[in-house]
Amino acid sequence: MIHRTIPAVQGPDLSLQSCWQEQLRSVITCPQHLLQILGLNATDLGYSEEALGAFALRVTPAFVARMEHGNPRDPLLMQVLPHQNEMRQQDSAQWQMDPLAESHYRAAEGLIHKYRGRVLLIAAPQCAINCRYCFRRHFPYEENAPSRKEWQQSFNYIREDSSIEEVILSGGDPLVLSDRQLEWLIEEIENIEHVKRLRIHSRLPIVLPARLSERFNRRLSMSRLQSILVIHANHPNEIDEEVCCALRASRDAGITLLNQSVLLRGINDNCDIFTMLSNKLFECGVLPYYLHLLDKVKGASHFQVEKSEALTLYNKLRAQLPGYLVPQLVEEIPGADSKTVIA
Ligand code: SF4
Repeated sequence: MIHRTIPAVQGPDLSLQSCWQEQLRSVITCPQHLLQILGLNATDLGYSEEALGAFALRVTPAFVARMEHGNPRDPLLMQVLPHQNEMRQQDSAQWQMDPLAESHYRAAEGLIHKYRGRVLLIAAPQCAINCRYCFRRHFPYEENAPSRKEWQQSFNYIREDSSIEEVILSGGDPLVLSDRQLEWLIEEIENIEHVKRLRIHSRLPIVLPARLSERFNRRLSMSRLQSILVIHANHPNEIDEEVCCALRASRDAGITLLNQSVLLRGINDNCDIFTMLSNKLFECGVLPYYLHLLDKVKGASHFQVEKSEALTLYNKLRAQLPGYLVPQLVEEIPGADSKTVIA
């Protein structure tokens, strides 16, 4: 059992964390403010106003606190700073607004039914952080923001298809919802008899760990549904003691914790980085789950790592780690029945 082998750590007392919603309201959206905190100058960084206009800057102070002061190549900074490379012309042909063709799988407002047995609800129209490589950076959230009444169409859709055993809350980030909104959604899903599992995809446990509150953990541990929280960390520097402490509390509440990463040029395209990441995740009670090749979303081509390079990195990783700490290397091919496992 994972949790018996991990010693207790000294960490911040989560009960003393300021309200997570207050922290969410303090999200940094001004590039000058961000660069001032880090002691950096926009002209040295390839920062682009045009890229900012195409996709806003959003980053939590907690995530910024883990960036290295004065380092223009900081791997966390590079994930969030609008960059001139995003406007490169060669993006236009191969790199698309909807790289996974999700619009084809829209079964109701805010509901995507792509794979057998599970559906995905776009539970929230925004995130606490805007990752520059995000495959939903152009997603039409305004067309997928149902009211409570409109959500009933999605619940009816799930109710009428008894093959659906798992509901995935995604977004945007579902954990930016208030506790009341989230609890309402969970209850509606619990009321659908044939649904067995609730999966939550969220980057908040990394960028705003206070969100994993006692109330959140308690609600999931009380649920009749099996709960799986899939977090998203790309680099070991994203995990500090506060993150680790929050994750362990969720794990101790009986929530299964998995991580997915995206392979990103200049950020984590290095075997040692993934070795450190997997080890850190496991110390926090999280199993590495997927390592994704970058989805070909317009504006993100400069992050691409070629498949052959990814395979070389992956084979090295397999030689360095026990099998349970090696995530599956996958890519998402529009129209396929599931994610395509590369290795
Ligand atoms: S959906 Fe995930 S990857 Fe995309 S911007 Fe939000 S947190 Fe980042």
